[in-house]
Amino acid sequence: MLVQTHELCSVPSFDHDYGMEDYGKGVARWCPGCGGHSILTTVQRVCKDMQYEPEKTVVVSGIGCSGRFPHYMGTYGFHGLHGRAFPVASGVKFRRPDLNVFVVTGDGDCCSIGAAHWVHAIRYNMKMVALLFDNGIYGLTKKQTSPTSPLGTHSNTHPRGSVLPPINPIQTTLGLANVSFVAQTVDWNSAHLYATIRKAAEHPGLAFVRIVQRCPAFMRDLYGDIAVNPKNLILLSHENGINLKHKARQAFGRVIEHDPSNIHKAREHAEINNGIPIGLLYQNTDNARYDEYGAHNIGMGVEEKKQNLESLLDQYSTSNSV
Ligand code: SF4
Repeated sequence: MLVQTHELCSVPSFDHDYGMEDYGKGVARWCPGCGGHSILTTVQRVCKDMQYEPEKTVVVSGIGCSGRFPHYMGTYGFHGLHGRAFPVASGVKFRRPDLNVFVVTGDGDCCSIGAAHWVHAIRYNMKMVALLFDNGIYGLTKKQTSPTSPLGTHSNTHPRGSVLPPINPIQTTLGLANVSFVAQTVDWNSAHLYATIRKAAEHPGLAFVRIVQRCPAFMRDLYGDIAVNPKNLILLSHENGINLKHKARQAFGRVIEHDPSNIHKAREHAEINNGIPIGLLYQNTDNARYDEYGAHNIGMGVEEKKQNLESLLDQYSTSNSV
């Protein structure tokens, strides 16, 4: 919060300068090497760099390893029901559009039991950052096939290998009505992870970010080779996309120029299967946002809204009809 500029100095001063310690809480109880650790630190860094007030920031999660995320944030949080992170977050944002809202969900939570909520949250396009932690497995319950497990994954539910093709979360999201922001990144490239979540936080609408996440406990082989060889990552680059410093760009073996306003090309890139395309696939800042129609944004106070609702209900009162 800006309060003053010293008369001899043009550097603004703040009544509170939030540091990393303001966004952290406790010790994360994820396995050593779990991708959740780097995502947590990155979200805290973005909050600090955006100077989000912790008391005006809410992290909503579902169930799964990722569901523990709000416990480690020094902000408000809601560790909710399986698959229900999106509707809870939507309720928070609709009622309190002044809050910074993050949704944290996993591949089982979002793409299976919560799939219907995922579809409608994208369509409602309320301003929030949605982070899909996609490790391709149910980790919390110790290795069952998830909707994004690659074909042939050996798990407790499919010991001879999974038999159905997986859902591609970015391809699916790019096909939804009113989609406004789709990005993909990986937990092990900190520069790209930070730049992606930062861009998502600045987007005026629902920013959907799929984070390819390592689960060394149960999916050690899934991203092992890809993680050690940066040449397996394909950087989607554009002046309106996720911008990396020159040095960070040099680590990528393959770079594709991609204009994030082109949804058709975005869908093509989402289907690349000989590497992981990372970057901003699609952004449209003009889409309708449902949070702009809440009581606060149509110029109606809560009391006024209540009175209007009561007078409408009175029209249907049985006492009026006799
Ligand atoms: Fe992370 Fe996998 Fe351990 Fe869950 S089981 S905490 S996703 S490494």
